[in-house]
Amino acid sequence: MYWESSVETMEREALEALQLERLQKTVSDASLSVFYKKLFSNIDLEPADIKSLDDIRRIPPTTKDDLREAWPYGFLAVPKEKLVRMHSSSGTTGRATVIFHTAGDLDAWTDVLARSMYMAGMRNTDVFQNMMTYGLFTGGLGFHYAAEKIGALTIPAGAGNSKRQIQLMKDFNTTVIHIIPSYALHLTEVFEEMGVGPRKDLNLRLAFLGAEPHSEKTRQKIEEYYGVKAFNSYGLSEMNGPGVAFECPLQNGLHIWEDNFLVEVIDPRTLEPVEDGQEGELVLTTLKREGMPIIRYRTKDLTRIIPGHCDCGRTHRRIDRITGRTDDMLILKGVNIFPIQIEKKLMEIPEVGNNFLIILEREGYNDLMIVRVEVQKEIFSGDLKQLENLRRKITEDLRSDILITPRVELVEPNTLPKTEGKAVRVIDNRKE
Ligand code: AMP
Ligand code: ZN
Repeated sequence: MYWESSVETMEREALEALQLERLQKTVSDASLSVFYKKLFSNIDLEPADIKSLDDIRRIPPTTKDDLREAWPYGFLAVPKEKLVRMHSSSGTTGRATVIFHTAGDLDAWTDVLARSMYMAGMRNTDVFQNMMTYGLFTGGLGFHYAAEKIGALTIPAGAGNSKRQIQLMKDFNTTVIHIIPSYALHLTEVFEEMGVGPRKDLNLRLAFLGAEPHSEKTRQKIEEYYGVKAFNSYGLSEMNGPGVAFECPLQNGLHIWEDNFLVEVIDPRTLEPVEDGQEGELVLTTLKREGMPIIRYRTKDLTRIIPGHCDCGRTHRRIDRITGRTDDMLILKGVNIFPIQIEKKLMEIPEVGNNFLIILEREGYNDLMIVRVEVQKEIFSGDLKQLENLRRKITEDLRSDILITPRVELVEPNTLPKTEGKAVRVIDNRKE
């Protein structure tokens, strides 16, 4: 049931002692990098000053901008010849940040991700189809090596090419898939087109959903359609990639692997820690990375620590599913809105299809939110009144949640632009 029970169920006290030991090494290693050497000298900190886990708060957080400014090698703590792999974040704005790994780093990453997949129930008897981009993005190669480490037959399908994906699932009896949730929803239409029903024609049993925020309802939709148990997988390239936090079979929060990462949840305005159970920004420190240690990285992801123990017996704390990012927050007419709120509402409406797009415009002095929603084919063949009623209902449901009235436009399935990677949910056409 456990990949490595001595680590997964370690008493908190022992786990924290291990964290401190690793934190001290991390800070000491980091002091060899150009970036942290300067930072530590600015704040007059010696690695030996870190005597408790709380002492980490003496070090100011590291941001994506810091990584960009020190690009490409400013964070390296080892000579370049020790590096064996580079990855980068999938960000579309500015220069992508790059992360370098030693062979030891790849081993540690593979191990923690294998632990995660094993926890969710994957075994060496499974056939694993990895439907993520292989390349700079971490979801492809990361999962690939971890699946092989478990010993599953691994199909490196990569992203896109939907018909072939389905064919592969059929031909090779795929039992486990790794897939971006928005793509999993899109694929349902291709299944229909091909006349393949996942429940009756395939042998799927598990799905790992990661890389983008999604609601509980989306998970349920995927579980129902594919006939699988779907597990939320969270990670970011700055912390290796996937394998930072993952759901256990109880599907009630994601265990964050505290032997590899030191976890803080802070108030993004004051940078002070929030109480367990309160939502805030997740801040993470690598505890096992040699090539490029990162201390107190501001993920910009909003979540909370779920208080209490998990019945699965693992002692590593759980975070809640990510509710948004401090930086994808939209502000319209002074109201803060997260795209996930809109997704949640839309997915509760049965007639709604699988894709939607938020477009922000400025009309005169007013901000206008257009929500373009794909709805089921049948709705378009019905009468206009029915279409108008649905449009009104969606508008009202959204208004009651986000407190502003969006202009809702209904479109036919498969008409909104699709990406093979993370879905693009918001287009902001407002001028400064
Ligand atoms: P990247 O570094 O390109 O892999 O992007 C990492 C970011 O993707 C994270 O900081 C999150 O904002 C987002 N992300 C990854 N996995 C999840 C997940 N399971 N739920 C919500 N957001 C996620
Ligand atoms: Zn658990």
